[in-house]
Amino acid sequence: MNCATVKEWMPHYIDGQLSPEMELSIRLHIESCPDCAQWLEEAREMSALWTDMEAWLPGTEEPMEYPDLKTDVMAHIESLEAERRERTITGTLARRRFAPKTSWMHYGLAACLTFLLLQLGVFENLAYGITEINGHVSTSVNSWFRANK
Ligand SMILES: [Zn+2]
Repeated sequence: MNCATVKEWMPHYIDGQLSPEMELSIRLHIESCPDCAQWLEEAREMSALWTDMEAWLPGTEEPMEYPDLKTDVMAHIESLEAERRERTITGTLARRRFAPKTSWMHYGLAACLTFLLLQLGVFENLAYGITEINGHVSTSVNSWFRANK
């Protein structure tokens, strides 16, 4: 068993998906190889990180109900708009002057929410991609996370 093979099988080793013989030979190698022991430690950190991340992200079997949320946001905007129109009709001149400004703020809020949802979607895809290769790039991804903390 050489280092390259150990590192290649590391993600499966952590997940406990290897045959007992394979697991034993990897464990024996790691015990005698500080480099691979370090790699294992980082890969385990990554694995724990992704477990946390998966718990936080919406699961694939229970997709987040984007359309419902969007409807809520739109309904909220509509009620604010109705409120604004009411105020414009019955309100003072000063109120009327402020109304368009608050309306724009609410549209901005809706845009932010949409952006956030997009980010979540993008991030989910990113998480999926990285999970696949985290065994290979655990060191660089770890430093990326440290840099972005
Ligand atoms: Zn090694």
